[in-house]
Amino acid sequence: MRIHLVKSAEVSVELFTKIMDLLQAHPGPLNFSCNLDSVSNIYLDEKILNNIKTKEEFEKQLATENNLSDRLVSRKISFPFEREEVSWDTLFAKCNKYRRKNNIKEDEFVIMLTDIANNKNWFACLDESNPFNGFIHTADWQYFISCSAAFPIAYEVIALVLQKHMFDGMIDLRTAVHNSPIGCVNDLCIHKKEIILKLRTADVCNECMRLLQNKITMPKIHHALTIMNSLREKMLYAQNFRQSTPPGRLLIDAQKRFLLTDFGNIEIKLRPLEKALYILFLKYPEGIYHSSLSEHRTELYEIYSQIANMGDLNEMKERIDDMVNALSDSASQKMSRIKRVFEEAIGTELAKYYFIKGEPGKVKSIALDRNLMTIE
Ligand SMILES: [Zn+2]
Repeated sequence: MRIHLVKSAEVSVELFTKIMDLLQAHPGPLNFSCNLDSVSNIYLDEKILNNIKTKEEFEKQLATENNLSDRLVSRKISFPFEREEVSWDTLFAKCNKYRRKNNIKEDEFVIMLTDIANNKNWFACLDESNPFNGFIHTADWQYFISCSAAFPIAYEVIALVLQKHMFDGMIDLRTAVHNSPIGCVNDLCIHKKEIILKLRTADVCNECMRLLQNKITMPKIHHALTIMNSLREKMLYAQNFRQSTPPGRLLIDAQKRFLLTDFGNIEIKLRPLEKALYILFLKYPEGIYHSSLSEHRTELYEIYSQIANMGDLNEMKERIDDMVNALSDSASQKMSRIKRVFEEAIGTELAKYYFIKGEPGKVKSIALDRNLMTIE
């Protein structure tokens, strides 16, 4: 089963890539693909202007129509408030356009990710006239969670795929979902805060499991559940909820992927030069002074050549020469990024065991017990 994710122009490549990485972390019968050259530009489409003039009008609309943004609810806004929105029809027309342009088969999913709010203000939904189309609203997550929005968005991709197979038609879908959230994948989630509850359980209730059984094969259901579970696990670390956990093993596998095998196999995604720098520091538990990095130039050439496709040898050497130059800030930038990637993946406390740290001008080192480290 193939699921195509389409990025709308305003969604960052970084977020989109992270969503793809999370979905592709566990191989199985659900295949996720994207075409970054085929980006959809919703900004050019017809917009609806939602203009709320007073606080009273806002509260009235909130109580009766339930179609205001989570953002409006969760932060102070001033009136009159104006926001551009797009209609569901426009979003699904974009999915169909993508289908035609990329020759997507009828039974393959096309799911549009967009930052632009929609007129009914749902977080995600399938297309009534073709339930293999869907959209997910990607903005405003920072008001609800302290980690990357990639987790709930990736989760919702799986939820839409499962929901497509639970029901025969959209009327069924609108009525058979759980209107009050019970932590099942099939909860009706209009608001983002409800998605967080779904994510905490990452579960499909018995009733919904029965609905799925004749519509989708068991290996596909298992694959969906595996991905959902790994998202839940990874999100707990990323949200700093697992900070009393002792540090776990770091495996650098034959493909030079950095995997935290005790923490749900979280992959730490670093760039080749960052990996080379990190591996160098792993080899020296006592630490290295920034000013003496240049003494390790040849060693870095060797490490790097094992990690990256060699490409242009001179270019590679130039980049390493720049990194070990004490006057350049290249190494500092790489260390900052390594720190950020670990913190985003496992939370600020647990990350301290793993990133390269040290006071300015002092020796820099990685605290991790080297017995916890394996390089294949
Ligand atoms: Zn259910």
